[in-house]
Formats: sequence, structure tokens, C-alpha cells
Amino acid sequence: MNDHHPICPACHNHSRQIKDGSTPAGSQRYRCKWCSCRYTPAPKSRGYDDDIRLQALTLFLEGVSLRMISRILAVNHQSVANWVNEFAGNMPEELPDSVLETAVLDGLITINPRQR
Ligand SMILES: [Zn+2]
Repeated sequence: MNDHHPICPACHNHSRQIKDGSTPAGSQRYRCKWCSCRYTPAPKSRGYDDDIRLQALTLFLEGVSLRMISRILAVNHQSVANWVNEFAGNMPEELPDSVLETAVLDGLITINPRQR
């Protein structure tokens, strides 16, 4: 579902984009057979919009339970759990600083994703 057709960032061809292993983070990499460019389409899709993922993470950081989040957003419970598990290693750039700082203070996350 929602499997984006990769487009070569160099020559913008849609066709002949072949899978070429994956990044350490688990994103699928591709290689363009037209120009041999290797690239990683961003971001890795879970079949839901980044919007929804961001909302789920924000709710989680505010202390809402996974089951409640899945009910509020009408998202599969396992998807929400996956997003939260992924969260520490894959911080959305758009997450407001205030939310991040609250999360760190609350001990929900222990990393500083922005390397400040
Ligand atoms: Zn290309």
C-alpha cells in the first residue's frame, strides 16, 4: 500500500529503477539503470502520511496510551507501536522543540536528535 514509485533524482526517470540493497536505517535504496545513480527515496513510508505519524508521536509524548492513540487517529495499533519504537532513531524534523524537550525531561527519550 502507498508504495511510492521511485524517481531518479538525477535524471527523473520513473522506469528502470531497481532495488539496490538498503541503508543501515533500513530504508530501501535504488539504482537508476539509465544513469547509474544510486539513491534512497525519502522518507521511508509505512503507508501512512507523515502528518499522522507526527500526530501519533506527539500524543505519545503527551502521555496518551498507544491504544488510545490508535483509536484517536484510526490507525492500526501495531503501526503506532512501530512508530514509537522507531522514534528514537528516526526523529521527525518537524516535531516542535517544546515537545522534544518535554519528552527528554520526562525521560521518555534519552537522546538529543538535533546534536545541539
Ligand atoms: Zn537516473
